[in-house]
Amino acid sequence: MGKGRARPITLYGEPVLHRPCAAVTDFGRELARLVEDMFASMQAADGVGLAANQLGVPLRVFVFDCPDADGTRRRGHVVNPVLEPFPRRAATTRETEGCLSVPGPHTELRRASLATVTGVDLEGRPVTVTGGGYLARCLQHECDHLDGVVYVDLLSGRRRRRILAEAGLAS
Ligand SMILES: [Zn+2]
Repeated sequence: MGKGRARPITLYGEPVLHRPCAAVTDFGRELARLVEDMFASMQAADGVGLAANQLGVPLRVFVFDCPDADGTRRRGHVVNPVLEPFPRRAATTRETEGCLSVPGPHTELRRASLATVTGVDLEGRPVTVTGGGYLARCLQHECDHLDGVVYVDLLSGRRRRRILAEAGLAS
């Protein structure tokens, strides 16, 4: 990687962020370029994760560059990710979360403390990513994006309006 080009990031309110993305079926050069551009865009924006619809592309792909529970930096991409269901009494943590599509504010949100995503890579080979700490949060946040859900949608109406106003976006 490293040869990608940073593209503008879509903002909350743009329809592509509020609709489920389509499964990737074409594993050609264009997908490789998209993933390179996603890494470049995430890095340019100083983010820890990015979903394809944040670049306006409605496909099920995300990238991450995020610390795990023990502080280890984990970097990768997942195509057609599926978030494994959580056990009924899964541990949760309430921590600060933000989103490049809602620039500026951060707010606390409860998420499962451990998450596993399965999917494939650029070549269609199976991948599994399991993470705790901030990576667990990131994996859940990015899978939500691909389902058309932005983290502020998980907040109460009042908190959502406050966060969107803080970001200068209409609710
Ligand atoms: Zn986000």
